[in-house]
Formats: sequence, C-alpha cells, structure tokens
Amino acid sequence: MTAPDFLSVVVPCYNEAEVLDETIPQLTSALEAIPGIGFEIIFIDDGSRDGTLARLQRAAEADERIHVLSFARNFGHQIAVTAGTDVAAGDAVVLIDADLQDPPEVIAEMVEKWREGYDVVYGTRSSRQGESAFKLATARAFYRLLNRFSEVPIPLDTGDFRLMDRRVVDCLKAMPERHRFVRGMVAWIGFDQIALPYERAERFAGTSKYPLRKMLRFATDGILAFSSRPLQFATGMGIMAASLALLGIIYALVLRIFTSVWVEGWTALMIAVLFLGGVQLLSLGIIGEYIARIHDEAKERPLYLVKSQFGTRAPRASRHPRPERSEPVAQPFPIELRERARNG
Ligand code: UDP
Ligand code: MG
Repeated sequence: MTAPDFLSVVVPCYNEAEVLDETIPQLTSALEAIPGIGFEIIFIDDGSRDGTLARLQRAAEADERIHVLSFARNFGHQIAVTAGTDVAAGDAVVLIDADLQDPPEVIAEMVEKWREGYDVVYGTRSSRQGESAFKLATARAFYRLLNRFSEVPIPLDTGDFRLMDRRVVDCLKAMPERHRFVRGMVAWIGFDQIALPYERAERFAGTSKYPLRKMLRFATDGILAFSSRPLQFATGMGIMAASLALLGIIYALVLRIFTSVWVEGWTALMIAVLFLGGVQLLSLGIIGEYIARIHDEAKERPLYLVKSQFGTRAPRASRHPRPERSEPVAQPFPIELRERARNG
C-alpha cells in the first residue's frame, strides 16, 4: 500500500467574513469525501478589514488541517494564490475561491483526472450564474483578445480554479515575476493539462472583490505579461504613417512643380499633425506600461509580506518530504527561493 496522496487546497480571502462559516465546513466535508487522500487547507488572508482573520484563526485552532497566512496588507488575489502555493506541501495543489463560486465537490473529479496522470486539471466555466451581462461580455472578450495576443495558448473561460501536480507547482515557484497572471503562467509551463467543465455558481454571499479597476489591471497584466504585440503596434503604425507620408510628399511635389495651387492643404496638415501626435502618445503610453513593469521587477521587492500565521502543520504522509520552510514565517520567505531560481 502506498502512502495516501496529500492535497493542499489554497483559498485566497479578501473580506470574506460573510462566506467563511459556510465555505469552511463545505470545503472540509467535500475533501473528506475524496477516497485515499490526506489534505491541508491554506487560507490566505489578503489584508482583510472585516472579521475574516478572526474567523480563520478560530478555524485553524479547531482543525489542525487548517493553516492561515495573513498578509501585512492587501496584495491582491494573484499574489495571495502565489503565497499559498509557496507554502503548500501537497503532492498536488488546488486553487479555489472562498465565495463558493467554484463548487468544492468538483475537486473530487479533479483528483480523479490527476490520478489518471494529468499534471494540471483546470476548471472551465460551462456556465456562469449570477453575474452581470457586462462582466460576462467583458470576460468573454478578454479571454479571446488575450489568446490572439499571447504567444502560448491560454484556455478560454478558465479561471484559477484548478489542480496542479507538484512538479507544475515547483515550476510555478521558480517563476519570480511580480505582475502575476497565474492561469497564463500555468499554461506557459505546459506538461499534460486537461479542462474540466463545471458550472460556476453564484457568489454565496457578499460582493465581488474585483471591482472594474482591479479587473482592468488584471487584464492588462495578463496581456502585457504574455505578449509583446502591443509594442509592435508602434512599428505598425509607424510603417503606415511613413507610407502615407510618402504619398503626401509625392502629391505635394506634383502640386508644387506642375500647378499653382500649392499653398492650400491646411486640412491635410492638421490631419497629419493630429494623427501623428495621437499615434506617438499612444505608442509612448504602451512603451511606458512595459517600462513601469521593468521598474517594478528591478526593485526586487518581496512579492508579499506576512503579518501572522496560524495553525501548526499536521504531520502528513506524503511522497514529498516537507522542505525546511515549516518554521512560522514572520518575514518574506520566498526570497531564498527566488535567489535559488535566479542563480540557477
Ligand atoms: N481576493 C483576494 N484579494 C483581492 C481580491 C479578491 O484574495 O484583492 C479573493 C476573494 O476573496 C475570492 C477570490 O479572490 O476568494 C475571487 O474574488 P471574487 O470572488 O471577488 O472575484 P469574482 O468571482 O467576482 O471575479
Ligand atoms: Mg467570486
């Protein structure tokens, strides 16, 4: 008999006090129902300002399989997920939202696929309930635009709800980038991936923690991190403007040499100036976006800061011995990992 598979479930939480009393028991019983696994649940409190942390702390005290990492401030969903995968000890790691939009029962199906040999089982939304027409339409358009731009195919209508094998998680941990777009990074990693369609439920309670502003930033991160195409826009527009300019020059010369109406042309001048001004500012803006990201990377700040941590890790039977990172983390611990990644 081999040791049972050990599963780490990562749940990012930002002001989720309203849902946690429902999420914790549902998630726990869904995991207990999966045959032949041990599990840990890692909650990341992403700088919540409601009772989230207190609830999580209580849960960690009551159940030794529950661990809590609390950020010093709100670092964002993608960073919270990253912190979870950084500390996860499982043979596989599952990412799931706290609001029960990703049904915990689906994890059992993911585990089945994983046991068939897939390294990544990602949930694809076959339907989404309780979301505005605006969110549905923009999400649809975004995933399609992203795919046109991206150098690797990124699955359509797929969020972060997924199971990843240890070897994929280790690859993910070796990717130190700051503007993280986890679903794209996992697509980039490759290995054997398979989609698992599921019905995305309505948020159990509370409101979305992704207002339009955050969504736009997230979408920009996705596109800029996975494509240099926007930079080529300047080149394309430059070639177009130069060709038009050549035609204009020929036209102006013809008028100058063969006719006497050559002082006219104010309209054409205005159009050329305004058009070029617009294209130049837009191109500068795009270049600026990339430079801002280079600037962020160059600062080499830690991705997140941990304020407190609750729950001792239960001893576990796993094929993978826990790395020596089991000490409580009062400092940004991924640094040594990143150093290792950088120095090869
Ligand atoms: N979340 C987070 N930090 C943030 C925003 C969101 O940890 O800054 C978490 C949130 O608590 C939830 C998940 O990310 O567990 C998805 O967020 P939400 O359900 O609000 O997004 P939506 O489903 O509306 O896209
Ligand atoms: Mg949600």
